[in-house]
Amino acid sequence: MTDIQEMKDEKVIGIPRAMSFYSDYPFYYGFFTDLGIKIVLSDITTKQIMSEGSGLVVTETCLPIKVYVGHVLNLIEKGVDKILVPSIQSIDYKIYNCSKIRGLPDLIRNVVKKPFTMIEPTLDKSEKNQGLYSFLNDIAVHFGIKDEAVVKRASKAGWRMYNNFHIMTRSGMSYKKALSYALQGKVFIENQTKEFPISIALIAHGYNIFDDYTSMKVFDKLEKMDVKVFSSLQLSKEQMADGIKSLNQELYWANEYEVTGAAGHYLKDYKIDGIITITAFGCGPDSLMIERITRRAKQFAKPLLNLTIDEQTGEAGFITRLEAFVDMLYRKKRARIINKMDITDNGEYIPNTNFIETK
Ligand code: SF4
Repeated sequence: MTDIQEMKDEKVIGIPRAMSFYSDYPFYYGFFTDLGIKIVLSDITTKQIMSEGSGLVVTETCLPIKVYVGHVLNLIEKGVDKILVPSIQSIDYKIYNCSKIRGLPDLIRNVVKKPFTMIEPTLDKSEKNQGLYSFLNDIAVHFGIKDEAVVKRASKAGWRMYNNFHIMTRSGMSYKKALSYALQGKVFIENQTKEFPISIALIAHGYNIFDDYTSMKVFDKLEKMDVKVFSSLQLSKEQMADGIKSLNQELYWANEYEVTGAAGHYLKDYKIDGIITITAFGCGPDSLMIERITRRAKQFAKPLLNLTIDEQTGEAGFITRLEAFVDMLYRKKRARIINKMDITDNGEYIPNTNFIETK
């Protein structure tokens, strides 16, 4: 029997390694494993995956969606029939996702003209009967599982894995390490003793920074420069909600926690020397959120670098801007220590980096 035939006979679900994979995969892993459903992931992002995805959508589409389309194609090429393409409308009452995330199944249906079965459950906490259990039941039914008690039990296994993952990231563990331990059913607390001269908060959606290809391994690059990097994964939901309030903002976008919330928290944190925001070219919600954060960063006198990524972003230019920013933070810190007093931050130079690198 061929691998493809085996996948058709077995209970197999394909999950694109893109978008919500970077936030929800520990949950899905626990959930599907408990139900006896095998997960096949698309390959890690490559130039080919990105180009194939972007070849099917209009140029203005944001990078993460182009990459997502490429991952769906990759799963189809691997012979996976059932592919999960969720429509996450709202994650709380009137807290919405952007229209591209909400309409993901429609977008995929319109651009991917290859045979496969799209599993397209809807989660909409602003509507009756579209909560998490109905979302999960809609998935399970594709595998002949109709017993709601079985689905509830599997969801508990999903939450266990999700919570274990977050316990580890909140202790300071990196995304990759925590994911690897969580999937093995292990929980460790990070006990890092190494001191870093500079600390930076990276503010972005998970899919923009945890995908090594699209983010050009930004974590590794900063750590090589002796920088301790923080992200929203080190924060609790309460800390991020408080961060949103401290910027006098109301929660509107579903992914506002990881952007405005994390930024609001780290702007107040004196241990953080600077903030780097990474946004995808063509992202409407980010352009609004980052604008507000940039204005508030000036009031908090916190240096901020905004990097925009798309498929044309060149790695050399990306590194140069990171190095220049980190160098500026070192100089600023040294000046503080040498002068034994705070240097004036009013009128401090904040590099204008809001443009796209082209090859
Ligand atoms: S939030 Fe922005 S980057 Fe994410 S899918 Fe929507 S438009 Fe694209």
